[in-house]
Amino acid sequence: MNEEIETGITSGGAEGAFRDILSKDHARRGKPPVHFADMTQDERIQTAKALGLPKFRVKQLANHYFAHFDVNAEEFTDFPAAKRGAAAEAFFPTLITPMLQQKADQGMTVKTLWSLFDGSRIESVLMRYPNRATLCISSQVGCGMGCPFCATGKLGLTRNMSTGEILEQVRVAAAQMRDGEIAGGPGRLSNVVFMGMGEPMGNYRSVLSAVRQISAPAPEGFGISARNITVSTVGVVPGIRKLAAEGLPVRLAVSLHAPNDKLRDELVPMNRRFNTTQVLDAAHDYYLATKRRVSIEYALMRGINDQAIHARQLANRLNHYGDDWAHVNPIPLNPIEGSKWTASDPQDERTFLDILHRAGITATLRDTRGSDIDGACGQLAAKTMERHA
Ligand code: SAH
Ligand code: SF4
Repeated sequence: MNEEIETGITSGGAEGAFRDILSKDHARRGKPPVHFADMTQDERIQTAKALGLPKFRVKQLANHYFAHFDVNAEEFTDFPAAKRGAAAEAFFPTLITPMLQQKADQGMTVKTLWSLFDGSRIESVLMRYPNRATLCISSQVGCGMGCPFCATGKLGLTRNMSTGEILEQVRVAAAQMRDGEIAGGPGRLSNVVFMGMGEPMGNYRSVLSAVRQISAPAPEGFGISARNITVSTVGVVPGIRKLAAEGLPVRLAVSLHAPNDKLRDELVPMNRRFNTTQVLDAAHDYYLATKRRVSIEYALMRGINDQAIHARQLANRLNHYGDDWAHVNPIPLNPIEGSKWTASDPQDERTFLDILHRAGITATLRDTRGSDIDGACGQLAAKTMERHA
């Protein structure tokens, strides 16, 4: 495994043109308890063996977890009563505990603040639409990439999340959907996007293991098609290239936000490490490898990157690689507290979209679901952190 990716892009964040920005409480923290989702099949079998359980019990556990979203071993009636407690402890330690839930859009948008084993706080957002339900999940506590318009970026990076911690957000949401706990009645969690807190490519190994377990058919995984999983990156080129080689039809989103290096250097500090040419080259190669259209994320900031000249330049940069390989998602900036940037004029948004469309580029304005509960893209900051940590 490539350590450079694991530890946060630069080796240890200590050299090169970019450094991870660490949060004040970034320190050597203990590791989260090991969970069923963190174990290889072999490790699961060994752990079962140590409890005096034969191999087929592992399959039962996988079935409870992935097919029924169930971790309450005391209720596993197909399991020997005397072993239920020990199995629960060994395989399903509590990794995430809900602290606060906020709802918007008549209960169709639900943001949950979670506490992790070490008191860290992260958030996830469930958004229900007529034909799908999308969960936006976190992959790191905070983020070290330092984008100045992003609430998570302001926190700095505390630590990477484990596969179990990432996956538990999905399991709970899938159970809530099934049980009709979200407005609109019982349904199914259909999509997962890594657009919550953190940079997924900064925690590559855990994110990839989570992706595999979200997408594998039950009982090996939750059975949410990889085509319905989106990994969003600030533009970590080695991560994009590695993901392209995994042979998974996962959707890639690249947070571009600017059509040239001068502007992007300012808006996305990571650009000083991997510039727009390198990022777009990698994004296009991802398209060639997977045949999945790449999403280009573009937060429209008033007077900064939202003018006609920017739209034209963006269109040229994308068309340089050919037709139909990218889909642009402009989104009005969700301004964060104390930010010098604000959302674009609706008229400028329309002009921006028009220019892209006329250049033959598909683009749809993203909604800002959940912005009134600070649950929209870029607003996640686990605000009660200061009070509890
Ligand atoms: N770190 C990854 C994924 C998490 S951020 C990334 O940057 O892609 C999810 C998305 O929210 C990214 O496209 C990011 O650029 C965008 N974003 C961050 N702050 C925002 C804000 N204030 N308004 C709108 N979008 C924002
Ligand atoms: Fe991190 Fe993404 Fe926010 Fe940038 S936009 S600070 S990469 S979470």
